[in-house]
Amino acid sequence: MIRVAINGYGTVGKRVADAVAAQPDMEIVGVSKTKPSFEAYIAKKRGFPLYIADPAKRAAFEKLGLPVAGSVAEMVARADVVVDATPGGVGKDNKNLYEKARVKAIFQGGEDHEVAGFSFCSDCNYTLALGRQFVRVVSCNTTGLCRIINTLDKEYGIAKVRAVMVRRASDPGEVKKGPVDAVVLDPVTVPSHHGPDVQTVLAHIPISTMAMIVPTTFMHMHAIQIELKKDGKKERILELIEKHPRMGLVKGGLGIKSTAELKEYALDLGRPRGDLWESCIFADSVAVQGKDVSFFQAIHQEADIVVENVDAIRAMVGNVKDPEESVRMTNESLGFVAI
Ligand code: NAD
Repeated sequence: MIRVAINGYGTVGKRVADAVAAQPDMEIVGVSKTKPSFEAYIAKKRGFPLYIADPAKRAAFEKLGLPVAGSVAEMVARADVVVDATPGGVGKDNKNLYEKARVKAIFQGGEDHEVAGFSFCSDCNYTLALGRQFVRVVSCNTTGLCRIINTLDKEYGIAKVRAVMVRRASDPGEVKKGPVDAVVLDPVTVPSHHGPDVQTVLAHIPISTMAMIVPTTFMHMHAIQIELKKDGKKERILELIEKHPRMGLVKGGLGIKSTAELKEYALDLGRPRGDLWESCIFADSVAVQGKDVSFFQAIHQEADIVVENVDAIRAMVGNVKDPEESVRMTNESLGFVAI
């Protein structure tokens, strides 16, 4: 069993913990919190040993009936792989701890590429992660871009990608960021960081991205235009998306034309937390004219990177060498059948 610790049991950390616990070849040795919260109660309920970043807060946890198993350093010492899901920028400060403990660590997309020197997407470069000590799982948006770009690149070759990211303002639980009522260009300058971030995984892809934030918490929406190197066929592109284990086709007949309806659909499907691990591409939006392909895809920011973290753990430990096998194991353990 691969022993996994989750440093930072928040929006991403708690989802990765549940996904790891569902795997036949992995176990959770601990999760960490900075302060007592409802998420600490959930960790206790799930039976995950709770470690704390600041030992001075032990009494505050214990007063609320939350037993503390030890410090983050003690948790790290018990793990084969640490998934660092602390807020963006904190991960790089933790790297020293992982280096000292000689433990493997995964960083999230809120960190710069340089923190690990290797940016990961299961679909694109799983085999290059085999045996690595440090890996960064790219952000939710970059993961969504990489999956479809890599798929079309393998089939047709890609001459150019242009994409506009309409981003959710905050996660549903992040009340500290609201309320908001504006469309915020993020950033005003072009390209946004997403294009260069895709190139940390797929260096050869010419891509330019623009991004804005809108007052919603549900999901991100991408408007993507791709110039292929050869003429594309709509039926074939729909087939590639439908067959892909991490992409889902939102079929016209479902009557879904918004992120709100898509999230409601995920809840109705019984997905845990209403999570959509797949990139959701709207079938009716896929337009192909010669070499030009356009479509909308919705990305559930809190979820698509969860399955990538699980695959990254397997690749780094190196016990499953075949990316398709890892993706199959991850998806099956979660009961993940694409929408
Ligand atoms: P979050 O704020 O929801 O959770 C972070 C957790 O880390 C909190 O529980 C906090 O208590 C804990 N923490 C803070 N400092 C810590 C420390 N020093 N040691 C241990 N724990 C500490 O953040 P999140 O949204 O889960 O984001 C985590 C990472 O994942 C970031 O890099 C972010 O950019 C990335 N990411 C987030 C999303 C998203 O939509 N939320 C999507 C993709 C990637």
